[in-house]
Amino acid sequence: MTTAQPLDVQPTALALLLLGRESDPASERGTDCPGDLPAPSDPDLVERARAAKEKLGDKVFVLGHHYQRDEVIAFADVTGDSFKLAQKAAARPEAEYIVFCGVHFMAESADILTSDTQRVVLPDLAAGCSMADMATAEQVAECWDVLTEAGVAQDTVPVSYMNSSADIKAFTGRHGGTICTSSNAERALRWAFGRREDGRGKVLFLPDQHLGRNTAVRDMGMSLDDCVVYNPHKPGGGLTRQQLADARMILWRGHCSVHGRFSLDSVNEVRERVPGVNVLVHPECRHEVVAAADYVGSTEYIIKTLQEAPAGSKWAIGTELNLVRRLANRFAGEGKEVVFLDRTVCFCSTMNRIDLPHLVWALESLADGRTVNRIEVDPETADLAKLALERMLALP
Ligand code: SF4
Repeated sequence: MTTAQPLDVQPTALALLLLGRESDPASERGTDCPGDLPAPSDPDLVERARAAKEKLGDKVFVLGHHYQRDEVIAFADVTGDSFKLAQKAAARPEAEYIVFCGVHFMAESADILTSDTQRVVLPDLAAGCSMADMATAEQVAECWDVLTEAGVAQDTVPVSYMNSSADIKAFTGRHGGTICTSSNAERALRWAFGRREDGRGKVLFLPDQHLGRNTAVRDMGMSLDDCVVYNPHKPGGGLTRQQLADARMILWRGHCSVHGRFSLDSVNEVRERVPGVNVLVHPECRHEVVAAADYVGSTEYIIKTLQEAPAGSKWAIGTELNLVRRLANRFAGEGKEVVFLDRTVCFCSTMNRIDLPHLVWALESLADGRTVNRIEVDPETADLAKLALERMLALP
C-alpha cells in the first residue's frame, strides 16, 4: 500500500500566461492574432457576422462549445461539448469550412475526425486550454521512460482525456491506450484495466488528475491510496519505484484552472445561502468538492439533469460561468432556480478569447476566399490520435 498523496492543485509554471501577447512555442497560448480585427465597439458586428455567414451558406459550419460567450453562441449551428462538436462536423462533409468556437485542442480533434477536404478554423489562435498545455509531448515521453525504467510500463495503459493536444492523443494511440470524455471515463478505465492480468494493470491518466481520481475513487470504488500523482516538473515525476509499483492510477499533475477553483467552502457556503439547494458539479472539480456534491457529471449531464428537474427545485452548478448563466436564464421561466456554485467569477479565460470581432474577422476572411487560422494536424500524429479515438468509440 502506498501513502495517500496530498490533493495537488497548485498552479504549474505553465498556468495562465498573459494571453495574446508575444509568442509561446511550447503552447498555442500567447499567440497574436494575425488579422485586422474589427473594433469591439463596431455597432455593425452582428450584421457583419450574419452577412458573412449567409454569403458562405452551406460551405461553413459553426461549432459553439458550451462555455462560449452568448454573442458567439448566437451564430453557432450546433452547440455541445468538444467530442460531440467534432462528430457533428464530421457528419457535415458538405461544409468546407468548420469554424470552431472553442479552444485549440478541440479544433485539432475536429481536424482529425473530419475529411481531408474540410478545413478547420479557430477564430483566435490564442484560444488554448491551460489544462492541455500541462502535458507536453516531451514531458509525456519522459514519463514513459520513467515508467519503463521502473519496470511498470508493460503493465500500464494510457487513458487520455479529450482535453489534451493531438500529440498526447497520438502517444495514447501508440501505446495501446484510449481517449475518454467526462461522460465515459469510467468505461474507459474499466476497459484499460481489463487489458492486463487481474490486479497487475495500471492506468496512466492524462492530463486531468481530478477526472482520473474522481472516476477511480467515486465511480470504481478504489481508494485514494491507489492513486499517485506524477509531477512532470520533478525528477522521476517525484515518485519512487515502489510508489509506481504499488499504484493502480498514475495521475498526471494537470488540472482545469476553471473547475479547480471550486472549493469545499464554495459547497458549504452555497448550502447555507440557498437552503434546500442541490449541488451539481463537473468531475474536473477537486475530489473534496465532488465528494461533497449531490450530483456529478459532464456538461451534457448537467444540462439533462436540469431539464428533468421538477419546478421549484434549486441548483448550484459547479462549471464554467457562461454556461451556468445561460442555464439560469433558460430555466428561470420553468420555476427552477439555478445559481453559480462560487461567489467569484469563473470564466474560462482562454475560451473567452473567441469573441464577436474574431468571429466576424474569420467569417469575412473565409467569405473573401482567404482561409485564416487553419488548424491542421500532421498525418502521422492524426493517424495515431485517431486510433486512440476509435478505441474510445468502440468501448464496451
Ligand atoms: S474550462 Fe478548463 S479544461 Fe475547458 S478549455 Fe477552459 S481551461 Fe481547458
